[in-house]
Amino acid sequence: MKKVLVIGSAGQIGTELVLTLREKFGNEAIIAADIKEPAAVILESGAFEKLDILNKEALLAVVTKHKITEIYLLAALLSATAEANPKFAWQLNMEGLFNVLDLAKDKIIEKVFWPSSIAVFGPTTPKLNTPQVTTMEPTTVYGISKQAGERWCEYYHDKYGVDVRSIRYPGLISYTSLPGGGTTDYAVDIFYSAKKQEDFTCFLSEETALPMMYMEDAIRATIDLMEAPVENVKVRSSYNIAGLTFTPAEIFEAIKAHVPNFKINYQPDFRQDIANSWPSSIDDRVAKADWGWDSKYDLEKMTQVMLDNISV
Ligand code: NAD
Repeated sequence: MKKVLVIGSAGQIGTELVLTLREKFGNEAIIAADIKEPAAVILESGAFEKLDILNKEALLAVVTKHKITEIYLLAALLSATAEANPKFAWQLNMEGLFNVLDLAKDKIIEKVFWPSSIAVFGPTTPKLNTPQVTTMEPTTVYGISKQAGERWCEYYHDKYGVDVRSIRYPGLISYTSLPGGGTTDYAVDIFYSAKKQEDFTCFLSEETALPMMYMEDAIRATIDLMEAPVENVKVRSSYNIAGLTFTPAEIFEAIKAHVPNFKINYQPDFRQDIANSWPSSIDDRVAKADWGWDSKYDLEKMTQVMLDNISV
């Protein structure tokens, strides 16, 4: 019987992933876990376990107690937060992954989802339509940990037969829960300022184009990849997926069409350097061919949904 553990279920992705998985497979099939308390809607709709992913024994106890068959591992330090605490970011992002991969290696669980990021790419990567396989010289702690994680996922698959699946998420945009310290957080924060009728100060410059995606697309991609027949999953490092690309100026204009008095100013900080090292757009033809990925949200549709649903 399918029994899923989502670790990092209080986060931006975890909150929506747990709710969607519970809708799809039933509340009893999906166990939420996090080091901190998740949203009330998670606690009310099913089981929650307080868990530190770095505690291997506690992880095994939760997996055994609930007879877990699959783990979605979302606990990590994100790009901006990781730069402030490099050693701990490396420890959390790598040891957490090993703890989960080892459970699959030991055949205690059957399947693992672990997200990578566009942060695996670096300044020497082609910026436009970044290919699935290309030069990868990440310059952030976060990117280095994600790139190493990808290599380990492929290694565990090839050497130990571990069924691990992964996506390189772009910047994710959602209204259910707030982002957790990434370089693309501005693209969520800007909607809150617009709804509050406040001026918005952007920490990236106006022409910084980055790959982004509306959360619903990202969640659908994640579950589709995990449910795909094993023979269709040919990439065991991590799949490129693309949603939309926009600059701060472009998202500002899209919002201004709905909020005419809205104003923006630009004060780039250390996150500008991170953004400058990342691609502007992503080539996702491999994911499309292997397991039928396609995005549904463009900038207009996402802007409308965000403005309709954010309450301030
Ligand atoms: P988030 O920061 O919003 O959530 C991470 C969650 O992990 C938090 O609830 C946190 O409490 C939990 N956590 C931290 N340390 C833990 C520990 N020791 N044990 C258990 N739980 C712990 O992050 P997110 O945006 O939801 O991202 C989830 C994953 O997706 C991460 O691996 C991230 O690198 C990746 N990702 C996210 C984005 C994005 O735009 N959000 C983009 C690319 C990749």
